[in-house]
Amino acid sequence: MKLYNSLTRSVEEFRPIEPGRVRMYTCGPTVYHFAHIGNLRTYIMEDVLEKYLRWSGLRVDRVMNITDVGHLSSDADTGEDKMLKGARREHKTVMEVAQFYTDAFFADCEKLRIRRPDTVQPATGCIEDFIRVISSLIDKGYAYLAGGNVYFDTSKLTEYYVFNRHEEEDLLVGVREGVEEDANKRNKNDFVLWFTKSKFEDQALKWDSPWGVGYPGWHIECSCISMKYLGEYLDIHCGGIDNAFPHHTNEIAQSEAYLGHKWCSWWFHVLHLNTTNGKMSKSSGEFLTVSLLEEKGYDPLAYRFFCLQSHYRKSLEFSWEALDNAAGAYEKLTGRIAALKDEGAHDEEAYRALRESFDRALGSDLNTAMGVTALYDVLKAEISGHDKLALIADFDEVLSLGLLEAAEKLRSAAPAPEEGDPEIDALVAARTEARKAKNWAEADRIRDELKARGIVLEDTRDGVKWKRV
Ligand code: AMP
Ligand code: ZN
Repeated sequence: MKLYNSLTRSVEEFRPIEPGRVRMYTCGPTVYHFAHIGNLRTYIMEDVLEKYLRWSGLRVDRVMNITDVGHLSSDADTGEDKMLKGARREHKTVMEVAQFYTDAFFADCEKLRIRRPDTVQPATGCIEDFIRVISSLIDKGYAYLAGGNVYFDTSKLTEYYVFNRHEEEDLLVGVREGVEEDANKRNKNDFVLWFTKSKFEDQALKWDSPWGVGYPGWHIECSCISMKYLGEYLDIHCGGIDNAFPHHTNEIAQSEAYLGHKWCSWWFHVLHLNTTNGKMSKSSGEFLTVSLLEEKGYDPLAYRFFCLQSHYRKSLEFSWEALDNAAGAYEKLTGRIAALKDEGAHDEEAYRALRESFDRALGSDLNTAMGVTALYDVLKAEISGHDKLALIADFDEVLSLGLLEAAEKLRSAAPAPEEGDPEIDALVAARTEARKAKNWAEADRIRDELKARGIVLEDTRDGVKWKRV
């Protein structure tokens, strides 16, 4: 498979370190609110990547964290813990909020057919691991104590700016809007590994540590959880593009300082879903959820289809009109599949060629739009209905659009042709007679009687037809 690597900024042949086995890590949600459909775009595209790797015959071990502590309102180290904000808003405890939104996240994932990672680990369950790695970073001279907190010392690295080629000046935390510079930091890009002191003394979740009672920083969570389950060498790390800096940059810094060697070979970043007002975010602007789409009558899989129609490395603009188009196309597609009959002979050569073209599409830097085109090519191809259905089922292992199930639903929902009903037929005939005799009152009376029985009449060129509603 050819896949873009944010680390090298190029499309390269993807090869896991251990042949046949992929170690994959995904930054999970910060569970202080519902996931919005922007977050879910990232998880949908990661899901397609994971399923394509499996479809290609590789074993994938995928791990995801749940950020239930330490992610502050700013990605830099100031502001209040997002979880605490959520708890205050909802008059609940932090753990209640975390549980509620974790469940809501996986319920949304299920509706979008996003597979649950093999391992899902909330950060609050790994405090000992964080403390062990932070202690080792202090011992190795990569971290220091200042003002009660433990900081990572970025000046100790030969290369820190992995995911940004910005001027150092632009990265000055102090110049970012709404962010105050932390006077304890020795270098402006240093970041907190463990907090015991922050402006917000009412932090709800705190643990004992060699540096005092406190809580971990957000970045150390992902490094430790990844290493705990996937070991010292990671094949691929995923996340939305906003995570590239500072989060992923800091993950690399601390993981490689701790391990003493290169940690992760591949970085997969999904570009944002934007609204006309800019990036969709949990803290500001338009906030669309899967439940909201459902309330408006959209099938969540129509949103998945919408996402698959564009490339993950391009930002995607959301509009209701664009979603309507995708929903219409999805409905038509499933309608065409519903019309297929599972019959006819198998044509191995044609079958293989169509499968290869789907493989080529997904293998070209996960070109899902081309993958969808390959699906339409199956419908158009001169092959049997049997082969078409088999190929659709095969492609849908990766695309996960629920195509065969939706088609089956359509087939069983199609109205059965009306059976004749002598009593109704007689009433319809009596009405026709009354109309001929210009007895409008009688004709209307019969129409009303039929209506009361749930029968509607239709005047057609072939005479009056009726149907039940
Ligand atoms: P969070 O719950 O804020 O930690 O974010 C969960 C995931 O969604 C992360 O991988 C983010 O990078 C990603 N994300 C955040 N906003 C968007 C967006 N508008 N479009 C796509 N992905 C996003
Ligand atoms: Zn992360």
